[in-house]
Amino acid sequence: MQQKQRLIVASNNGNKLKEFTAILGGRFQIVSMHDAGVDADIEETGATFEENALIKAHYVAQATGCAAIADDSGLAVDALNGAPGVYSARYCGRHGDDEANNDLLLQNLKDVPAPRKARYVAAIALVRPGKPDIVRRGECGGEILFERRGNGGFGYDPLFLCETGETFAQITPEVKNAISHRRRGIEAVLRALEEEA
Ligand code: IMP
Repeated sequence: MQQKQRLIVASNNGNKLKEFTAILGGRFQIVSMHDAGVDADIEETGATFEENALIKAHYVAQATGCAAIADDSGLAVDALNGAPGVYSARYCGRHGDDEANNDLLLQNLKDVPAPRKARYVAAIALVRPGKPDIVRRGECGGEILFERRGNGGFGYDPLFLCETGETFAQITPEVKNAISHRRRGIEAVLRALEEEA
C-alpha cells in the first residue's frame, strides 16, 4: 500500500487540528506543528485571510522542509462591514478570548435587528517544497443570534446560526465538518491538486 503523504498543519489551535484531521486524515498523514518540532507563535501580519494563511504555511514548510497546510479564518458580519474579519481571534483586544469576543460582538450588534447576516470565511494555503502554492477560500453563510445556544464548537459557534437551523455549537462535529467554511476551502484545495495531476 502506498504511504500517505506527510502534511503538517500550521496551527496551534487544537480545534482546527481536529477538523483538519477529520477532513484530510484519510488521504494524508496529518502532523501537528508541535509534533513536527515547530514551536512558534507565527505573527499574522497580512491584511487578508489569504495572506495570513500563506504566511503560516510558508513558515512551517520552511522550518521543516515538508508540505504544510494552514488556514486563516474568521467571521464576517454584514452589518459590521465584514468585521471582525481577520481580527476575529483578537476582536476584544486579547488573542483567543472567545467569551469576550462573543460579548463584544453582541454589544456591537445590539441595535441591529434580525436577521444579522454573517459568514464564516476560511482561506486554506498549501505550501510544498518545489511546487507552486495553492490558496483557496471556503465560506459558510448564516446569521448571528441574540444569545448563545449550544456547548460544542469554539469561537463564535454558539452565536452562529447555520443552514440546519441550529448553531455551530449545537451540531455534531461530523455535521460541522461536512458544511463548514474550512471543509469548503479544503475541498477547493483538493480540487486544485487534482487539476494539477
Ligand atoms: P485564526 O487562528 O487567526 O485563523 O483565527 C480564527 C478565529 O476566527 C478563531 O479564533 C475564531 O474566533 C474565529 N473562527 C474561525 N473559524 C471558526 C469556527 O469554525 N468556529 C468558530 N469560530 C471560528
